[in-house]
Amino acid sequence: MLRFLAFFIFAYLFFLLLNLYLTWRRRQRNLDSRRRGKEAEEMVLDPQCQSYLPKGSAIHRGGHYFCSEECARLYLSRNQ
Ligand SMILES: [Zn+2]
Repeated sequence: MLRFLAFFIFAYLFFLLLNLYLTWRRRQRNLDSRRRGKEAEEMVLDPQCQSYLPKGSAIHRGGHYFCSEECARLYLSRNQ
């Protein structure tokens, strides 16, 4: 009976540690995604239509950021 109780306590401690570990992992991942979200929020200027847009959704052409392929094409053909 005592052995069963010891096993029960051991199992309980094991699951407690596992839960702690998983919580820690989840917190680390949340910090990571928050850091990545901040990078995506960085705004860049489209030199063609003078509008700001998130760097994550901008098109990078010839050292500039554009809102669309159309703006990139117009700007680069005008500045060559
Ligand atoms: Zn544009």
